[in-house]
Amino acid sequence: FPSPATAELLAAVKFAAEKHADQRRKNQAGTPYINHPIEVAEHLAQVGNVTDTSILVAAILHDTVEDTDTSEAELCERFGDEVTGFVMECTDDKSLPKAERKRLQVVHAPNMTAGAKQIKLADKACNLRSLLIDPPLAWSTERQAEYFRWGQDVVAGLRGVNADLDADFEIIIEAGQKKF
Ligand code: NDP
Ligand code: ZN
Repeated sequence: FPSPATAELLAAVKFAAEKHADQRRKNQAGTPYINHPIEVAEHLAQVGNVTDTSILVAAILHDTVEDTDTSEAELCERFGDEVTGFVMECTDDKSLPKAERKRLQVVHAPNMTAGAKQIKLADKACNLRSLLIDPPLAWSTERQAEYFRWGQDVVAGLRGVNADLDADFEIIIEAGQKKF
């Protein structure tokens, strides 16, 4: 039998896969959306050496409320308060205009909990890295560069919790400075 932690992680992967089933990433191949939250959780485990199950489960679920019909109550009932709290900290208020949401991510970053900061940092690391190797099909180089700069502004407020994640992000920034 798997450990309770492994069983919970697998339940989150199944839940997120069903919720994101009809969605694709913006890259050329239109990769299934679920690859992204899996990549973020794997980044936390392999690069950030994160072992806290709530953080890894929340990473798998981090885009379900923002990008699917999943409600906070639904997550709470299935995955509990701690996981739901991390997910909600990583969820934009979709009633606000896009530019305001982007501005608020920068403003809110320093005030997030340590767990949510690590998830958000891993999310930005994965998105900025994909801009370098497999960018959205429709984005001009200028738009990629603009997103890269904004991602760095958000991450400025997320540093200082996990030295391994911070060091890896520096390598992504250096690669970005060469490209953009
Ligand atoms: P977003 O900036 O919201 O899209 C970026 C998001 O797409 C990422 O945060 C990521 O979010 C997701 N994503 C999906 N696939 C990839 C991938 N392969 N690589 C990286 N990220 C990926 O774009 P929108 O289309 O919603 O546009 C909104 C904003 O874009 C506006 O506020 C405007 O400022 C700007 N804009 C700029 C233009 C320009 O030419 N400069 C033109 C039009 C808009 P997640 O992790 O949540 O999946
Ligand atoms: Zn994401």
